[in-house]
Amino acid sequence: MLDVKFIEKTYGEGKSAFTALHNVNFSVGRGDFVAVVGPSGAGKTTLLKCLTGLIPVTAGSVELLGKPVTAPPKEMAIVFQDYSRSLMPWLSVVQNVAFPLQSSGLGKEVIAERVQRAISAVGLEGRDKLKPWQLSGGMQQRVAIARALAYEPDILIMDEPFASVDAQTRFELEDLVLRLRREFSITLVLVTHDIDEAVYVSDRIIVLGGSPTTVTGTLTVNFDEERDQETTRNSPHFARLRTALYHGLKTGEPIEPVA
Ligand code: ADP
Repeated sequence: MLDVKFIEKTYGEGKSAFTALHNVNFSVGRGDFVAVVGPSGAGKTTLLKCLTGLIPVTAGSVELLGKPVTAPPKEMAIVFQDYSRSLMPWLSVVQNVAFPLQSSGLGKEVIAERVQRAISAVGLEGRDKLKPWQLSGGMQQRVAIARALAYEPDILIMDEPFASVDAQTRFELEDLVLRLRREFSITLVLVTHDIDEAVYVSDRIIVLGGSPTTVTGTLTVNFDEERDQETTRNSPHFARLRTALYHGLKTGEPIEPVA
C-alpha cells in the first residue's frame, strides 16, 4: 500500500545543508498497523511530511498504491496531535466531520450517512450539535478521528494523536483506534515517541535512529490474544517487546525478534 523507498531528506544547501533522513526504507501493507518511533529530533515530523507529500524528498520516493506521492493524496487521511488546531471552532461536531466530504462530489445523503456512522463509531452520538470548545480534549480528538473515518481513507496516518490528553483518555483512545481498525479494516501508520503505546497498538514497529537518521531496527509485535489495557500491558511478553524496543532505540542496534 505505502512504499517508502530509500528516501533522503536534506534541508538547506551547501555548508548549511542538514540531512534529516538518510536511506529510510520500509513498506506498509494493506491492513497493517505500523508504528514509527524515534527520539525527539530524530526526524519523525520530517518523515511524516514526506509520507504525506507536504514536503518533497531529496532522493528516493514515497509511493501510495504504486503512485508517487508528491502532494497530499486523496486516499490518505491524517490525525494530528493538536486537535484544537485541526478542528474548526465555529463548526459543530457534525459540520467538522462532514467538512472534508463537502468537496468530494458525494451526495448529501451519502455524506450524512457516513458522518453519522463515524460519529457513532467514536461514541459521540448526542453530542453532534456541540462545538469543539464545548467538548473535552479526548472528545475533540474523537471528532478528529471521526472526520478521518468518514472520509474512508485507504490509509490513516496519525501523528502523536494521543499525546495531548490525560493518561486514562489516552488508553481509551488507543482501544478506540484498535476497535475501529477491526470494524473499518483500515491501514494505519502511527508516529510516536511513546514506546509502550507503539507496542500496545501496532503490528510492526519501525525504529528511527543514528546520525543522519535512518531505520535502525524493526520489531514485529505478536500478541496471540486481543489486546487489553490491563492484561496485555502486564504480560511478560509485553515486557519483553518493550525491553527489546527500548534497547534498540537506546543503542541504535538492530532488534532481535521477540518470540
Ligand atoms: P522529530 O519530529 O523527530 O522531533 P523533526 O523531523 O522535527 O524531528 O526534525 C529532525 C531534524 O531536522 C532536527 O534536527 C531539526 O532541527 C531538523 N529540521 C526540521 N525541519 C527543518 C527545516 N525546515 N529546516 C532545517 N532543519 C529542519
